Amino acid sequence: MSIISSHNMLKKAQAEQYAVPAFNIHNLETMQVVIETVAELQSPVILAGTPGTYSYAGTENIIAIAQALAKKHRIPFAVHLDHHEDYADIVNKIHQGVRSVMIDGSHHSFEENIAIVKRVVDYAHRYDVSVEAELGRLGGVEDDLVVDAKDALYTSPTQAAEFIERTGIDSLAVAIGTAHGLYKSEPKLDFDRLAEIRKTVAIPLVLHGASGLSQQDVQTCIARGICKVNVATELKIAFSDALKDYMNQHPDANDPRHYMQPAKQAMKEIVTKIIHTCGCAGKL
Ligand SMILES: [Zn+2]
Repeated sequence: MSIISSHNMLKKAQAEQYAVPAFNIHNLETMQVVIETVAELQSPVILAGTPGTYSYAGTENIIAIAQALAKKHRIPFAVHLDHHEDYADIVNKIHQGVRSVMIDGSHHSFEENIAIVKRVVDYAHRYDVSVEAELGRLGGVEDDLVVDAKDALYTSPTQAAEFIERTGIDSLAVAIGTAHGLYKSEPKLDFDRLAEIRKTVAIPLVLHGASGLSQQDVQTCIARGICKVNVATELKIAFSDALKDYMNQHPDANDPRHYMQPAKQAMKEIVTKIIHTCGCAGKL
C-alpha cells in the first residue's frame, strides 16, 4: 500500500525537527506536479483536498490517480481529508482508501468538538487512519469555510492538553495568528503561545494558513514544534497566474497539453520552495 497514514511521517518530522508540507491539489495536473517534485527531491508529502475538491474531482478519481502516481514513482505518501466535518462522509472516504483525516469541529464548543473528534478517532484508528483536529479557530476563507477575523480564537495550551488526552488524535492544528487565504497585512504570529503548546503536548502540531507567510516565520514555527505545514492558496495563484499569462500571450491556444505546461511549471516552483522551507528534502 503506497497511500499511507500521516502518523509515522509526522512523528519522524517531529523527532528530526522538520515539517512535512500538505499541498492542496484539485485535479490530475496539480497531483502530477506535487508527486513529480517530491519524487525528485525525495521528500515526504501529504496531498490534501477539502470536501469541495473531492466532490469536484471525484474521490475515486483522486485515489486512483494517487495510486498510479505512487506506483510510477515508487514513493509512499498520504492522501488527506482537509477540513472535513461530516462523519458519514469521512467513513465513506476511509473505505475508498484515504488514510489521513482532519475532522474540523473547531467551530463547535470545546465539549462538542471533543465528542465529534473522538467519534472519528475511534473509527479511523481501526483502519490505521491518522486523525488531525483543530482547537481554537483560524480566521479567513477556505472554500465554504468563512471565519471573520473577530471570531478567530487562539489555541489555549492547557485546553490543548486536555483535548488530546480525551480524543486520542494523532496531530493538532493550532491557531496562533495565521489565517486561511491571503493576508491583507503582515500577520503577527504568537510564537510564545506555540512554544507553550509544544511544552504542554507531545503530538505533532500543524500550521494552517501558511500561504503568504515569510520563509522566516514558517521556519520559526517549525523550530517551535510545527511538523505539518498546509499550503493551498499560494499554489492556486501561481498556477492560475501562469495560465492567464499564457492565454493572454496565445489568445488562440486551445490545447491543454500546451497551456497547462507553464501553469504546472509555476506551481512546481512554489512546491520546491516550500519543500526547502520545510527542510524535508531527502527525508522520505
Ligand atoms: Zn486549513
